[in-house]
Amino acid sequence: MSLDDISGLVLRPGDADYDAVRVIWNGMIDRRPAIIVRCRSAADVRAAVLHARAAGLAIAVRSGGHNVAGYAVCDGGLMIDLSLMNSVRVHPSLDRATVGGGATWADLDAAATPFGRATPGGLISATGVAGLTLSGGVGWLRGTHGLSCDNLLAADVVLATGELVHASETQNPDLLWGLRGGGGNFGVVTAMDFALHPIEPEMMFCAPAYPEEIAADILPRWRGFMAAAPDSLSGLAEFSTIPADPAYPQEIWGRRVVALATVHDGPAEEGERLTMPLRQLAEPLIDFSGRMPYRVIQTLFDGIFPKGRDRCYWKSTYLKGLDEDVIHDILSGLSRRPSEMTYSSIWYLGGAVSRVAPEATAFGDRSMRWMLSLDAIWSSPDDDAANIDWVRGQWDEMQRHSTGRLYLNFPGLGEGDTLVRDAFGPGTYARLQEVKRRYDPQNIFHLNQNIVPS
Ligand SMILES: Cc1cc2nc3c(=O)[nH]c(=O)nc-3n(C[C@H](O)[C@H](O)[C@H](O)COP(=O)(O)OP(=O)(O)OC[C@H]3O[C@@H](n4cnc5c(N)ncnc54)[C@H](O)[C@@H]3O)c2cc1C
Repeated sequence: MSLDDISGLVLRPGDADYDAVRVIWNGMIDRRPAIIVRCRSAADVRAAVLHARAAGLAIAVRSGGHNVAGYAVCDGGLMIDLSLMNSVRVHPSLDRATVGGGATWADLDAAATPFGRATPGGLISATGVAGLTLSGGVGWLRGTHGLSCDNLLAADVVLATGELVHASETQNPDLLWGLRGGGGNFGVVTAMDFALHPIEPEMMFCAPAYPEEIAADILPRWRGFMAAAPDSLSGLAEFSTIPADPAYPQEIWGRRVVALATVHDGPAEEGERLTMPLRQLAEPLIDFSGRMPYRVIQTLFDGIFPKGRDRCYWKSTYLKGLDEDVIHDILSGLSRRPSEMTYSSIWYLGGAVSRVAPEATAFGDRSMRWMLSLDAIWSSPDDDAANIDWVRGQWDEMQRHSTGRLYLNFPGLGEGDTLVRDAFGPGTYARLQEVKRRYDPQNIFHLNQNIVPS
């Protein structure tokens, strides 16, 4: 199959943009595809898939390029870069938007928020809508509207045969079920329809940052607050170190903090009142709270996660609970982190997320209320082993508190024979294998959180 007639671009090693396009978010991933196809249409995607198959090349699919495991790029294979397919159409009914397979959350929010609408996304605007949604998607609107994948209404998918199929509740519903959490296993998603929801012009972003030294006192109270909070509040406790940056007061540079970041999906004034107790648990070192438009909230953390600069290894686990024993183990692990650039978050997963039946989507079980992510970030290749070993050691330590599952958008480097199977659990995994067998029986799309066809 020829790539001569495609409307997009074909890049090979030595071409001007080749190096810029193969760079993804995790600076530790340095892979050189034989060909990069920058697609502009489903027809381009079809040509790329068929070309790869005829040439015997492995296929990597890149949307936002944020997956820390580096699935978006491969050595020697064909990289399908969807980032030019980033159009967003907000339907005049304002209840849904059609989003290109390579759009970012910045693209979607830019198109929908002027109409007072949004759908649950992630916390960083440069993350791809597709990659985040296909494995779940946790963001600031999850308490009211669930995961991103819960809001996926339909999708267009180019299969390994080059066929373009539609997935919805009425056409190929098994495929839609699989796309709601089952990752990029079934084909290349070229367009997605999402449910849109009304948002207020301004919302409350609450983020008092307390010294990590008093986290053992703060976290049980935060746990109680979140467990009793209305659905409108979505939050996480985020551990970090204040960088030596003029954006922060110099006297707190280098201090380790836990920020109780929370967004209220509702009127800002009401949000300010509801979140006030979180800001009064003790004397914060600094309080980042304020009222602002949702679109601004969606970009607040962008600057601290620049593309391609840092080396990263992020891994998650769902916790059975957050009692004092768990908190002790989290804090004791964090005290040993080798890099001050590292983050770690405890995400609360109540509200609408928890009310979706486990069999309704491939994301599966929703009974867990807390997720711990260990997000090691560092600069030098010399520190790779220390940081990766720290996450793995801490992750192993936490397994006694874990439900046994992890969030596949934070999968380490994707290593471990049973990682994906364990992440879904046996029932969901078996059902996913059936969907995989129907849509990609030869496992052509295997550079991902891979489901082996049954
Ligand atoms: C800085 C940062 C912040 C993050 N914040 C959040 C957050 O707030 N909430 C959250 O839930 N996650 C978050 N994540 C994790 C994120 O959801 C995953 O990394 C996700 O895979 C990123 O999607 P992407 O499209 O950007 O990535 P890519 O690396 O481009 O894609 C990852 C994989 O998804 C599949 N895929 C992507 N697009 C398609 C497509 N169109 N068709 C078929 N398969 C496709 C492919 O297998 C691909 O290799 C964050 C990650 C980073 C690096």
